[in-house]
Amino acid sequence: MTVHVLLVEDEAPLREMLCFALSGEAYEVTEAGDAGEGFTRLRERRPDLILLDWMLPGMSGVEFLRRLRREAAWRDIPVIMLTARGEEDDRVQGLEAGADDYLVKPFSTRELKARMAAVLRRTGREQDRETPLSAGGLRLDPVAHKVTVHDGALTLGPTEFRLLHFFMRHPERVFSRAQLLDHVWGRDVYVEERTVDVHIRRLRKALAPHGYDACIQTVRSVGYRFSAPLAPDSH
Ligand code: CA
Repeated sequence: MTVHVLLVEDEAPLREMLCFALSGEAYEVTEAGDAGEGFTRLRERRPDLILLDWMLPGMSGVEFLRRLRREAAWRDIPVIMLTARGEEDDRVQGLEAGADDYLVKPFSTRELKARMAAVLRRTGREQDRETPLSAGGLRLDPVAHKVTVHDGALTLGPTEFRLLHFFMRHPERVFSRAQLLDHVWGRDVYVEERTVDVHIRRLRKALAPHGYDACIQTVRSVGYRFSAPLAPDSH
């Protein structure tokens, strides 16, 4: 599966170097020399991942990122910021603006590829949403819309299914109720945050007879986390 990468970088030699480094079957790179061109390329084709330089002429990389995150069609695209700066403040600013990761120049091709793979894994790009997932005896097949525990099928409502699917794609990570609403219900839907609690309760109830309710953990004053269960035969 080819990953389509949009590279927004004003330094032509670095662009060339990155295009060369990412050439091959795994990646297809579209180049843009500034933010304006970046948006033009985005409109032409939605990339799977964006490599974004911090210091761009005109609109900065951070401003580009902020605008990107305001657009419903683009806000899910993973972004790795490329920067010469190593200051903690800048890193925080970039991450707050919605960057998924951060690479300080100069970086090796190997490091870049490793970070890209990690970000794509973490953000679960569209293609990956069809991949069956399993965690300690719990299996979810998104295509067949089936959840099984060992050999038994589990009956879940559509929201509980989407919740579990989201959790299983992002194990061991804490999400606030607002984040879960964004990811599972969608940002344009108006639902109260306590609705999340209702569906979490239903999901736990469905998992409880099989002893898997404990993998949906409450993280006090933050939200919820999915922690992969231990297979019952492993303890
Ligand atoms: Ca630059």
